[in-house]
Amino acid sequence: MSAGRVVMVGAGLSGAVIGRMLAEAGWQVSVVDVRDHVAGNCHTERDADTGVMVHVYGPHIFHTDDEEVWDYVNRFATFLPYKNRVKTTSGGAVYSLPVNLHTINQFYGKTMRPDEAKMFLEEQADTSITDPQTFEDQALRFVGKDLYEAFFKGYTQKQWGVSPTELPASILKRLPVRFNYDDNYFFHRFQGMPEHGYTDMVAAILDHENITVTLNTRFDRAEVGDYDHVFYAGPIDGWFDYELGRLGYRTLHFEKFTFTGDWQGCAVMNYGEVDVPFTRITEHKHFAPWETHSGSVLYREFSRECGPDDIPYYPIRQVNERALLGEYVEKAKEEPGVTFVGRLGTYRYLDMDVTIREALDCGRRFLAARETGHAMPAFVVNPL
Ligand code: FAD
Ligand code: UDP
Repeated sequence: MSAGRVVMVGAGLSGAVIGRMLAEAGWQVSVVDVRDHVAGNCHTERDADTGVMVHVYGPHIFHTDDEEVWDYVNRFATFLPYKNRVKTTSGGAVYSLPVNLHTINQFYGKTMRPDEAKMFLEEQADTSITDPQTFEDQALRFVGKDLYEAFFKGYTQKQWGVSPTELPASILKRLPVRFNYDDNYFFHRFQGMPEHGYTDMVAAILDHENITVTLNTRFDRAEVGDYDHVFYAGPIDGWFDYELGRLGYRTLHFEKFTFTGDWQGCAVMNYGEVDVPFTRITEHKHFAPWETHSGSVLYREFSRECGPDDIPYYPIRQVNERALLGEYVEKAKEEPGVTFVGRLGTYRYLDMDVTIREALDCGRRFLAARETGHAMPAFVVNPL
């Protein structure tokens, strides 16, 4: 006998992971997505001409310290080793990111050892900044003016459309500065790439007899009553028809081009200068170093303000947006039978591993609530 009927709005990682858990617990799960594919923003597909696996909504690298999440994704896909080694072009030269000993030595034409480089960079740093609040302060304090201007100032201006003096320090804190030659972009214990792409993995998560997937279909709020519960992974302001206004996002435009051979020799090349209009170029075949392709597919990535018909990518989360988000959160709490999940439902930048962690927690919370007769909250994680 079925435990009941639930719907996942969105066939991305959030909807797939919660849906799978509930399906395994005996619930009838409908998964609805307005797009013509599952996997949401981590969707991958093979380019028809070259056979290259393309990260359709931008480059996605899986990295986590969360062992349960790592075991989870490995249940549904074979992950092959992949380390993200990003390069950046600035001032007519190519450097290694994140800023590491190689970057510092190359940039300053020196052969410093770790302690020497640390002392040297401390001399470049603005030590009068004791509690950096803005992106620019954080950069000036920890890498100094030269490296900031070469690698971060222009890139960040292009990425966010505002001066780094108006952005929070937290954005830069995502990136380490290393005084050794480790050029792995991420710190995490587990890193890799699904052998057959993310969409194959998400399709495997959704492959359960209690799950029905409907694509090319927008879920309408009026349908809530058809289900025992709704898990909504779409934009929180969209649920309320933007009646209080729109939350700000950056959107991306990818200019695709192809090449015969190897165009740039790496998966991701950033461009630090503001007068280069794009932020980075992605050469997708390098995300699958175990494959061989003579052709190549590349994306030049442009960032701009998100309009009503654009895909929302990066939540801006500045003071104004936070205030508006607070108002939507209050409305959401009055919405019976709906839980807002994921990147868009909670208006936060979430890496894939965090999305899966939260989805697992959300599914468990729902099953526990049903068992004990408690109400399921609108949010399992506070979005504010
Ligand atoms: P989404 O993937 O956005 O899925 C939501 C789905 O809901 C969408 O498919 C949408 O079509 C659907 N939807 C919305 N409204 C409706 C509606 N009314 N009716 C029906 N369907 C609806 N993470 C990493 O770990 N590593 C990376 O390298 C990385 N790179 C990234 C690069 C970029 C450019 C971006 C933007 C994100 C990146 N991420 C990365 C984050 C990753 O994309 C997210 O963690 C993940 O996709 C979030 O999954 P989700 O299910 O919450 O949301
Ligand atoms: N950043 C930069 N130069 C670079 C790479 C990143 O200035 O070459 C800044 C930029 O503001 C970006 C932030 O550092 O938003 C965090 O970088 P990350 O690579 O984590 O960006 P994301 O994965 O969000 O695109």
